[in-house]
Amino acid sequence: MSSSRCLIQESKPRDACGVFGIFGPGEDVSRLTYFGLFALQHRGQESAGIAVSDGREMTLYREMGLVFQVFDEETLSRLQGDLAIGHTRYSTSGTSSLVNAQPMVAEWRGGKIALAHNGNLVNALELRRELEAEGTSFAASSDSEVMLLMVAREADRQGSVEKGVAACMPRWRGAYSLTILTEDSVMAVRDPYGVRPLCIGRLNGQAIVFASESCALNVIGSEFLREVDPGELVVADKDGMRAQQVLRSPRQALCVFEYIYMARPDSEIGGRLVHEARRRLGRQVAKDHPVEGDVVIPVPDTGWPAAIGYAEESGVPFGEGLIKNRYIPRTFIQPDQRLRELGVRIKLNPLREALQGRRVVMVDDSIVRGTTKRRIVRMIREQGAREVHVRISAPPYRWPCYYGVDTSNRSELIAARCSTVEEIREAIGADSLGYQSVAGMLKGLRVPRRKLCLACFTGRYPIPIPKDVKLSKLDLEESAWREGEEEAKTNAPAASPTETPA
Ligand code: AMP
Ligand code: SF4
Repeated sequence: MSSSRCLIQESKPRDACGVFGIFGPGEDVSRLTYFGLFALQHRGQESAGIAVSDGREMTLYREMGLVFQVFDEETLSRLQGDLAIGHTRYSTSGTSSLVNAQPMVAEWRGGKIALAHNGNLVNALELRRELEAEGTSFAASSDSEVMLLMVAREADRQGSVEKGVAACMPRWRGAYSLTILTEDSVMAVRDPYGVRPLCIGRLNGQAIVFASESCALNVIGSEFLREVDPGELVVADKDGMRAQQVLRSPRQALCVFEYIYMARPDSEIGGRLVHEARRRLGRQVAKDHPVEGDVVIPVPDTGWPAAIGYAEESGVPFGEGLIKNRYIPRTFIQPDQRLRELGVRIKLNPLREALQGRRVVMVDDSIVRGTTKRRIVRMIREQGAREVHVRISAPPYRWPCYYGVDTSNRSELIAARCSTVEEIREAIGADSLGYQSVAGMLKGLRVPRRKLCLACFTGRYPIPIPKDVKLSKLDLEESAWREGEEEAKTNAPAASPTETPA
């Protein structure tokens, strides 16, 4: 029997955000930003915004809602200019309200600055207190506003926004991929660990485009140039594009969860197509956890490439067993308790013909809380499946994220609540459960360990987290923090991962 702490927790994990930027005199920059944000919608569905400049004046429009709900012809036509940035948000810091929507705009003595942020600072509270002590007041509650107001302050001191950003970077700890707009330039900034992705493209031979993921470059017809390097500040203005390496870190820490779940499969990150990476993860889990089955089915959509890989490697035929309603975004009005069990069928409906009498191998990218998995397994059984074997292309998700993926607290993660895989198998009601190992994941991805953040699987956080911040998400039990520290020590790299100015 599973222990009581192994009971499944309700509530939904959240994503990071999407950022975009374009310096494109003569282009319809607000419409291009709109389409770029549309391609990044999967990264955040809470609010969307665009800030545009015509070289002299900056205009901002942001609202709660999906990109297509926020903008229409009328609002876009009011956003005239030659350069723009945009943002799609899911709150990982600050509350879900319009004041926290992005881009955010502040003034400095030379004009305005707009900022769009993907990631999460771990020392935001400390920095905020420092600014408050100097008399700065805040309108919002997010770390992004802290960053913006710091840039404004430093721009005043240093005499330019570019210099202001460079001066702030050594003080920011955590994950940040930013696009920044001034009246006459667009900037892209990435933290020295490169936790969140950010890339650069060129449109029509001239315009410079920045985006969280390369899929946003593709959809507007721009050519992929390269990624923004960790610790780099890239500026696009009338003189072209220039880059400076502001910080260097002895290691990188690209979020491995971008490969597993977050990014779109048609994006390229770290030189790897995400679809291909997921497929190889599926192949690897098939090698490590083979099972006799009649059909391999994916949990749509993100489990799809891994299921293809599993079927290829195992020789068990691939089939569609769950049909997804394509018109439901990742978040939608949650059914009440009475309709909750039905809720999963609103999103995913089983295909009886593919499942009845079969030994089903169901492949998904991850188990976070286990709620969906349990419902799906039950639903597949109800269609007459003989056996349901679950294979997961990621390792057990045991530790909360402090770098921009809101998976809430450790107590909600089923792999942290349960002591063994067997307990999790029982909780989700599967006949067998096979997780990827950390070693298998690295083998499948073919990315060196020192380039990745694996903290939600290992508890080893590459960017040091202040104790009070760390404890805020470790509510399972007091000893969880110490357990994490021990695990971190055992796995710690020889060199301390502190970044130094380049
Ligand atoms: P569950 O079975 O309830 O743990 O849900 C896990 C499912 O949520 C998987 O199918 C993932 O594709 C998806 N998922 C993983 N991480 C996140 C996240 N941060 N936000 C939303 N969904 C996620
Ligand atoms: Fe990504 Fe997990 Fe690291 Fe967060 S803790 S950055 S989700 S790998």
